Amino acid sequence: MKIVRFSYKKEVFWGILKRNSVRVIKDDPYKNIKPTKKHIDLTSIKFLPPATPSKIILTGLNYKDHAIELGMKLPKEPVIFLKPPSALIGHEEDIIYPKAVRRVDYEAELAVVIKKEGKNIPENKVDDYILGYTCLNDVTARILQQKDIQWTRAKSFDTFCPVGPYVETSLDPSRLKIKAYLNGKLRQDSVTSSFIFTVRYVVSFISGIMSLSCGDIISTGTPPGVGEMNPGDTIEVEIEGIGRLRNRVVIG
Ligand code: MG
Repeated sequence: MKIVRFSYKKEVFWGILKRNSVRVIKDDPYKNIKPTKKHIDLTSIKFLPPATPSKIILTGLNYKDHAIELGMKLPKEPVIFLKPPSALIGHEEDIIYPKAVRRVDYEAELAVVIKKEGKNIPENKVDDYILGYTCLNDVTARILQQKDIQWTRAKSFDTFCPVGPYVETSLDPSRLKIKAYLNGKLRQDSVTSSFIFTVRYVVSFISGIMSLSCGDIISTGTPPGVGEMNPGDTIEVEIEGIGRLRNRVVIG
């Protein structure tokens, strides 16, 4: 099932994706998914990020092929960092390229949406805490990332966290094709079987550090082929079984 969060006539809804429409659900999808009888045409909705996180936790180097590309040793444990919820945007919203920043990159990533509170979750229980999977673009001001010791500035500008369009609730995340297209040209092309740390391992590891809340987003790192975007470009993140997240870059 594909879950959508959207606005329609100035109201915010959650829904289930049907062929050409969205079936509205009652409240949010974290506890129970209760479909109503209301259907809204897909062309008349504005996509919103399909999660309402208290925090967005991302993983650094997590693809073997990306580590090889960078000539780096495989990490022994996940490297994690945060983005603020104020960086979130949805499908078809614009990424704002900050004027004073000289280089902004895309990073296609598979992200998890958490559906219930959890702390110290064992790996074999992680699936009980996951609502589903979505596409995320870990937009990064690369020169600032290299210049600052902490990555917070480089990763946290408003609009630097596109997520969506949907959350797929039934998906095996261990062998999915993941791609990025810049202006329609394929730039990243890998499979999640190249993960150094599996989704279950990453979620369990992070839950040992911080309590997870419903709506939190955990992203799992990017494959090889990251690169620069410029104002006027369109960037798309596509993950098998989920869909394609599309955003345009505009000057701030
Ligand atoms: Mg990343």
